[in-house]
Amino acid sequence: MILRRQTRKIHVGNVAVGGGSPISVQSMTNTDTRDVDSTLAQIERLQDAGCEIVRVAVLDQDAALAIAAIREQICIPLIADIHFDHRLAVAAMENGAQGIRINPGNLGGPEKLARVVAAAKTHKVPIRVGVNSGSIEKDLLKKHGYPTPENPTALIESALRNVRLLEKQGFEEIKISIKSSDTLTTISGYQQLSRLTDYPLHLGVTEAGGLIAGTVKSSVALGILLHQGIGDTFRISLTRDPVEEIRVGFELLRSLKIRERGPELISCPTCGRTQIDLFSIAEEVERYVQTMEKPIKVAVMGCVVNGPGEAKEADIGLAGGNGVGIIFKKGKLYKKVKEDVLLETFLAELKKLEETK
Ligand code: SF4
Repeated sequence: MILRRQTRKIHVGNVAVGGGSPISVQSMTNTDTRDVDSTLAQIERLQDAGCEIVRVAVLDQDAALAIAAIREQICIPLIADIHFDHRLAVAAMENGAQGIRINPGNLGGPEKLARVVAAAKTHKVPIRVGVNSGSIEKDLLKKHGYPTPENPTALIESALRNVRLLEKQGFEEIKISIKSSDTLTTISGYQQLSRLTDYPLHLGVTEAGGLIAGTVKSSVALGILLHQGIGDTFRISLTRDPVEEIRVGFELLRSLKIRERGPELISCPTCGRTQIDLFSIAEEVERYVQTMEKPIKVAVMGCVVNGPGEAKEADIGLAGGNGVGIIFKKGKLYKKVKEDVLLETFLAELKKLEETK
């Protein structure tokens, strides 16, 4: 049982973050935000995968304007990611952004920040103070050194300094992220930060890498933190299609038994007993279950000798034999079919289960 750290609750559109709300899974588009059609197409795929909050980069006024057209056609809250230019932050909110991610210290001074805060108050938009190892102020680096697992102070001080800039303007609808590309610095940084503030925390490892390295780094860092009750929302950053970030995110929550979405797929690694092309069958089944919503357990096993027994908790599974395959339910034989129709028969059974269960 994970005991979650008590944090304040804020709202990004209709999604509550912090204060015991479900831990939300976010992603960020990698399209040109000004290209409304491409951005919408990507957000629709993200929504289908379960994305709950989406962020878009706002690099100029045209991108800020595009937010209005994008917002009209999506169901999840949209956050504008802005650097340096306070006018873009204001324009993004005027055009319907439901959250902004900024670094208050780099917007050009208190007056410009005040305009951003005024717009955030008017439009009821929360602000994420997002600090990265690479964006820490020079004086803090000089004082505390570059963040390391043993000493992540500069990262924390930078975040809290930026939070104070907002608080000075009477603004507290805040969440905080302190991202590092180093797994251990991420862990120790968020652990320390969580003892110093009760604002909700957005977790992430930045520049984590491709599918395998990025998944492992993010899962280790975020897995440890979430297990300690730290973190209210997160993004898994991958150098990949952002839809993969959402899939990894929900698998992470599932493995910690925090949240479930869609079926869990169990598949064996294969061994010398395997007599069918299990890899391609597993790939097809994986593709299919990603379209399903019911939280059932599905098994794809290499042999009839051990498969059903090894996967007896699965609601439904298949196991390969010599020219045949069996479909089993809860570890018990349900149907025996020829190998060449095993996949299609199994997918039809999954469809039935999705419709009836
Ligand atoms: S289920 Fe069968 S084929 Fe797969 S790893 Fe276990 S023994 Fe090997």
